Amino acid sequence: MELAKRLKLRHFAQYIWTHYLAGSLPNRCLLCHQSLSADKSGICSVCLQACLYRTPICLGCGKSMLIQIDYCGECQKQAPIKVIAPCSYHQGLGPWIAAIKYQRQLAALPVLCEALAERIRQLEQQGLVTFPQAILPVPLHPKRLRQRGFNQAWLIAKELSHSLNLPLVDNSLRRIQDTKPQAGLTGAQRRRNLYDAFELESEFTYQRIALIDDVVTTGTTIAEISRLFEARFVQVQVWCLARAEAPGLLDDLDVI
Ligand SMILES: [Zn+2]
Ligand SMILES: [Zn+2]
Repeated sequence: MELAKRLKLRHFAQYIWTHYLAGSLPNRCLLCHQSLSADKSGICSVCLQACLYRTPICLGCGKSMLIQIDYCGECQKQAPIKVIAPCSYHQGLGPWIAAIKYQRQLAALPVLCEALAERIRQLEQQGLVTFPQAILPVPLHPKRLRQRGFNQAWLIAKELSHSLNLPLVDNSLRRIQDTKPQAGLTGAQRRRNLYDAFELESEFTYQRIALIDDVVTTGTTIAEISRLFEARFVQVQVWCLARAEAPGLLDDLDVI
């Protein structure tokens, strides 16, 4: 076989291994491909630790801080919605979180949810967050749910509801508009795209909730949903598997 063809074949085989086979073997770490013990799947503890936040993080903007308090100096003034995540989307786990949604690669889901639950427990013990009375996944429009077959936010909420023993409420908040994907839109377009996209039932009685999503990027979705809750004096915090920082903030992070 001529060299070019052989190289192409090798790349193809490598691509298939990295993207499909290595990741789909249940007893191998998705990142380093080392064997995992029979009761584990997804990501080994060494890779996980390497990808989690290593510095205290502002719960408002995601900026790295010297000590763990709730907000950085900038955020103290506004006290924005607290977003709790165990890691940055840009520190290694991002592709696997995207793979949950787009490739149904669910092997990493339990270990990521446990890392999030652990972070929530720690912050609660430090008095920086209060446990909510209920958790609500960011809903998909029924049409999108039919296409994808599952809502990744609901899967995360289900795991958290179990490990933190909190009620999962999935019938009060609805997505009533099938909006365009947010990726690639400018800030103003994102806000316009999502305006009035959600609806909250009139009988909602909880006072303190956590919204669950896979990734929080610009926070437009969260801002749009929390408008509905704040109008009813419901306190909102956000729990997600990873936070995608604004490019300027990345310089401050201990990126590996
Ligand atoms: Zn590993
Ligand atoms: Zn901040």
